[in-house]
Amino acid sequence: MNYLSTRGAAPPLGLGAALEAGLATDGGLYVPERVPRLREEDFDGCATLATVAARLLRPFFAGDALAAELDAICAEALDPPAPLRAIAAHTWLLELFHGPTAAFKDFGARFLAASLARRRGADAAPLTVLVATSGDTGAAVAAAFHRRRGFRVVILYPDGRVSPRQAHQLGCFGDNVHALRVAGSFDDCQALVKRALADADLKAALPLTSANSISLGRLLPQMSYYALAALAHRRAQGTKLDIAIPTGNLGNALACILARAIGLPIGEIALATNANRVLPDFFAGGEYAPRASVSTLANAMDVGAPSNFERLRWLYPDEAALRGAFRSEAVDDEEIREVIRRSRERYGTLVCPHTATALRLLERLRARGDSRDWAVAATAHPAKFDEVIEPLIGAEVEVPPALAALLRRPSRSEPLAADYAALRERLMAI
Ligand SMILES: *Cc1c(COP(=O)(O)O)cnc(C)c1O
Repeated sequence: MNYLSTRGAAPPLGLGAALEAGLATDGGLYVPERVPRLREEDFDGCATLATVAARLLRPFFAGDALAAELDAICAEALDPPAPLRAIAAHTWLLELFHGPTAAFKDFGARFLAASLARRRGADAAPLTVLVATSGDTGAAVAAAFHRRRGFRVVILYPDGRVSPRQAHQLGCFGDNVHALRVAGSFDDCQALVKRALADADLKAALPLTSANSISLGRLLPQMSYYALAALAHRRAQGTKLDIAIPTGNLGNALACILARAIGLPIGEIALATNANRVLPDFFAGGEYAPRASVSTLANAMDVGAPSNFERLRWLYPDEAALRGAFRSEAVDDEEIREVIRRSRERYGTLVCPHTATALRLLERLRARGDSRDWAVAATAHPAKFDEVIEPLIGAEVEVPPALAALLRRPSRSEPLAADYAALRERLMAI
């Protein structure tokens, strides 16, 4: 299988090279040259996340040196569970927060790390993984590459604009992980990373890659938990599973969309956003109009220009077909607060502010009479957002053991001006 750029002006690459490159040289995103088709029977005997993933990803690895390592990569990286938990009639939470940093991004980061480590081998020159993060990506990437020989991680995050626990997580790894708190916004951090990745002189001196939400290494493994959930649901209930997904850069949702296109028994896919409503406006019939993002309680979804939208256009070249294929609705901070306030009583569980957007979208559907089987993707553990949730419920949020262990470690970050020369100098000195 070869991988092509969504912009069509970069040479095709094999899987391993596309994983390592991140963004294509023409600024596009890598997509497979065709969408493989699988049948439900192809998954007979696959009952775990790792075995479902290995089956699902086999066509994507075909012809690449990493194909021989696929089972081992899946077993190593897709080890945290992704359970479907019933929370109401016909309603499940797909819990994606049981990895080391308590957000779904652990799956993609671990898969990318396991793949790159095998691709590069032990003797390669050290690769620097540069990430801009609005909170959860940086920690997941840090955890996945921490103490891996041959890799360094440099995280840029906007000082004061991630939750206190997110900030602690970013700085608590140490060793080969460097956390830089930037005097600026997330957009500034992203612009710095882009500039570094386009700096040929820098890259000649310092092998450099990124690990953001456009990486194929994240898209591919994220399909597997939707596949496992839909297959388990089909085996137990005989029906397709409809899925509501909290959406920012469209990375997580795109994995679900691709899994459905491959043939997994997924019904409707609903995209919930926070007050950043580029996608709802588009699906309501407007132009696709990226804009500056606004800050919300669901900060990991504060995105004004969803970077994976190009992949959606690739999968649905016909705009009318694209608009008809999905539902997308925005949920504002007041509604996020209300869902969180009532969630324990109504569903027997707390949800994070991101998950609350998708749960709210589903509540609206239920109010309109929808009685189908829905799963809501629960993208982070509520304990990561204690400063939002605790005042709303008037109680403490219980911290899962893996997160508690990270929060007990000392944490340290270095300040950085939102200035490319300063970043370059810092990178050369690491
Ligand atoms: C990153 C993130 C999202 C948004 O995911 P995208 O792939 O960018 O759409 C939602 N919830 C949480 C908790 C996240 O960390």
